[in-house]
Amino acid sequence: MYYVSTRNKLLNFTPAGAISQGLSREGGLFLPASLPKLPASALETLKEMNYQQRAVYVMSQYLTGFTTAELANFAAKAYGPEKFDTDEVVPVRKVDDNTYCLELWHGPTCAFKDLALQMLPYLLTASMGKNHDERTVCILVATSGDTGKAAMEGFRDVDQTRILVFYPKDGVSEVQALQMKTQEGKNVGVCSVVGNFDDAQTGVKTLFSDEKLREELAGRNTFLSSANSINWGRVLPQIVYYVSAYCDLLKSGEINMGDPINVCVPTGNFGNILAAYYAREMGVPIARLICASNSNNVLTDFLKTGTYDRNRPFYNTVSPSMDILISSNLERLLYALSGGNDKKVASYMAQLTQKGSYTIDEKMLRQLQQVFAAGCTDEAQTKATIGKMWQEHHYLIDTHSAVAFHVLEQYRAETGDNTPAVVASTASPFKFCDAVLEAIGVEEREQGAALLDQLSAVTGVPVPRPLAGLRDKEIRFDGWVEKEAMGGVVRGFNR
Ligand SMILES: *Cc1c(COP(=O)(O)O)cnc(C)c1O
Repeated sequence: MYYVSTRNKLLNFTPAGAISQGLSREGGLFLPASLPKLPASALETLKEMNYQQRAVYVMSQYLTGFTTAELANFAAKAYGPEKFDTDEVVPVRKVDDNTYCLELWHGPTCAFKDLALQMLPYLLTASMGKNHDERTVCILVATSGDTGKAAMEGFRDVDQTRILVFYPKDGVSEVQALQMKTQEGKNVGVCSVVGNFDDAQTGVKTLFSDEKLREELAGRNTFLSSANSINWGRVLPQIVYYVSAYCDLLKSGEINMGDPINVCVPTGNFGNILAAYYAREMGVPIARLICASNSNNVLTDFLKTGTYDRNRPFYNTVSPSMDILISSNLERLLYALSGGNDKKVASYMAQLTQKGSYTIDEKMLRQLQQVFAAGCTDEAQTKATIGKMWQEHHYLIDTHSAVAFHVLEQYRAETGDNTPAVVASTASPFKFCDAVLEAIGVEEREQGAALLDQLSAVTGVPVPRPLAGLRDKEIRFDGWVEKEAMGGVVRGFNR
C-alpha cells in the first residue's frame, strides 16, 4: 500500500512517510492510492472482537510497514480504560426503533476527536522512527475548542514532541477554555489570541510558511507539524468506529449481516463523514451518508448543487466546532469522485483559493448525490432538538449531535427513507452546558465550572470524570496575545 497526493498522484509515499509529512508540499492531501476492501467474512470476524482489536484489524489494512504487535500496543494504550470511561470505547445507544446514536465522546476530553488524537501521537512518532528522524516535532494547533484540548491530551509527555495551542480568546465555551487553561504535561503550551478562530488559524498558517522561523527551529533540531485533520493519521482511526458500529448492531441483533444502514454526521471540516465514506468503500453496508451542517451550510449547498462557495457570511453558532467555511477534507472526496484525477482536483482547489468557489462537473455531482444527502439547521432547531430528545427519550445530547438528529429527521420526512440510521454523537453535552441548559428550559444559569454541576443537578446525569476534575485544577495558562505576536510565542516555547 502506498500513498499519493490529491494534487499529484505521481508522488508516492509509504504510510510512515505520509503520516510524518502530514501535508504534501504542493498543498495536496495524502490518501491511499487504492482503498482496501474488507474480505467477505471480515465483518463476522470483527463482530466478535473488542474495539482495540477492531482498530488493529482495520488500521493494518492501511498501514503496511507497521506490525500487528505495534498496532496492538498503540490501540491498547490509546483506547484503554485509563483513557475511555467505558470498555466499549464507542458505545452504540438505541434511541428508537430505527435510530441509533454512536457515542464518540467517552475519551479524555469528551469529544470525538479523542479517537483520532489518542492514536495520532503513536502513529506519528512511530512513523518518524521508521524514517530515522530524530528531530523534535513541535505541533502547532489553532483550535475552535475541541481539537486543541484533544491534541494536548494525546501528545502530553510524549517523547520527541512538543505541542502549542492557540485558541480565539472569546470564541470557545467556558468549559472548553477551562479545559485548556488547566492542561497538564511538561511539553505543552496554550495561549489565546485576540480575534476569532479564523485569526488564530491564519496566524498559524503564516507561521508554517515563515522561513526564518523554520531555520531558527532547525537550529534547535526542531520542526513544525500540525495535528489537524488534514493528516491521514487522523482520518484513519476514525474509519474504525464506523466499522465497529455496524458490528455492534449485528452483535446485538438489531440488524442482520448485509442489511443497509444510513449514517448521519455533524460536519465542519468533512473529516468525520469522510471516514464514514471510507468505511463504506471498504465494504461496510452503508447506504447513504447524511451530511449535517449548522447555519454555516456551505456543504449543504455544495451537496445539493455541485457548487462550493465560501463567499457567504460566517455565523458563530451554539455548535462552534462546525463553524467553518473551508472544509479541507472535501478534497479527498473530490479525488475519489473524479476517479483519481489529480489535475482536476488541483484546479478546483486553485479556484477555491482564487475566487472562493468552484463547481464540479455533472458526472461527479451525480456520483456524489448517489451516496450523500445533506441538510442544515438553524439555532432554534438545534436547541429545540436537544429539548425534544430530553423530553421524549430522556437522552441528553450536545449541540453538535443535535444538528445531526434534526437533519436526520428532515431527511426522513423528505425522502421517506426509514433505513436504520446511526447518528454520530460528537461531544458530551457537558462541554456545552450553557446552551444545553438553555435548550432544556433552564433560564437562570451559573458560570464557569459551576455550570457542570448545574446541568448534572437538573438532569441527574453525572458529570463525566475528566470534566468533573476541572473544578479543582490549577490554571496554568492564562496568557493572550495579539495575532501579530504569535511568532514570539512559538520562539519562546521552543527555547
Ligand atoms: C470537530 C467537531 C465536529 C466536526 O468534525 P469534522 O471532522 O471537522 O467534520 C463536530 N462536532 C464536534 C463536537 C467537533 O469537535
